[in-house]
Amino acid sequence: LISVPKACVIGDPIGHSLSPLLHTTWLRQTGAKGCYTSLHLKPDEFVSGIANLAADPNFVGANITLPYKQEALLVADTSTKIATSIGAANLLIRKNNKFLADNTDAAGFIGPLLCALGLKTLQGKTVLVFGAGGAARAVLEALLCAGVERVFLCNRSDSRAKILLQELLIHDPKANVKLLKWSERNRSDCQPDIIVNASSAGMTGFDSLDINLGFYRTVSLVYDLVYQPILTPLLAQSKELGLVSLGGLDMLISQAKPCFIAFFGIDPPSDNTAKLALLRALQVMAGSGQ
Ligand code: NDP
Repeated sequence: LISVPKACVIGDPIGHSLSPLLHTTWLRQTGAKGCYTSLHLKPDEFVSGIANLAADPNFVGANITLPYKQEALLVADTSTKIATSIGAANLLIRKNNKFLADNTDAAGFIGPLLCALGLKTLQGKTVLVFGAGGAARAVLEALLCAGVERVFLCNRSDSRAKILLQELLIHDPKANVKLLKWSERNRSDCQPDIIVNASSAGMTGFDSLDINLGFYRTVSLVYDLVYQPILTPLLAQSKELGLVSLGGLDMLISQAKPCFIAFFGIDPPSDNTAKLALLRALQVMAGSGQ
């Protein structure tokens, strides 16, 4: 019998993860029994680290972040369809001493987008996505599941976008996803309704995404997955042009909700206490130059 369910987030580095603050705020608000911490595992410790956690009967699961989202699939006994098709997991759930790998990033991404648009599907929409890493994989999967009409994929290194597209087409040969060369990004005629930044550009310590939003005359919404800083240079540009601007914090919260339910068996509160706590923490981090 589990006395106090224990969960954590695992990554390398992990010090700046906001997940412990988010889950701990929800635990306090709901009064649910449980504890959620962070665990730093170096690459050669990942597999043994998971085995050590599993030795504790109170361990109910973990969130997995960079750079282990792909490896998480390999250590799991089974995986959900969505985690398999994305090729990465951000959640390991322990059930009957076995690990199920799941991915809540795709649902976490699409929920805030549909909400901001006031829509149930993306039928008829053209979306331009920047990035070709793990986040872009989840974004593409989510956009296709939501019935998007067309996607243009653009990445600083064209070759990486090409590989991502080839892998995607193996799973989903009919997916209407086209490559947009990085060199063409400010002069092609792809005319998207929505622009998504699923790259690390604009994140504290990274260069900003080098695009001119003014060029994309058909765009009405810009979604930046980056949440540190809260107002990225891309979102600042988007706001200046009067476009609907969506940051990454809502996605962070939305991907965490099903994880909280899986770990602690209770819905997280729907008020914005946790969001305010995260905003405060991000302000403190920005103030201390982190
Ligand atoms: P990866 O390291 O897997 O991929 C990074 C991507 O960013 C690559 O495509 C890389 O291009 C591109 N990139 C990096 N710097 C620049 C730059 N200056 N200009 C243009 N492109 C650049 O990271 P992830 O895919 O896992 O994460 C991407 C971002 O999404 C991160 O900022 C992360 O915090 C955020 N994220 C947010 C989530 C949320 O809940 N809000 C959830 C998951 C991720 P190249 O191939 O050329 O190197």
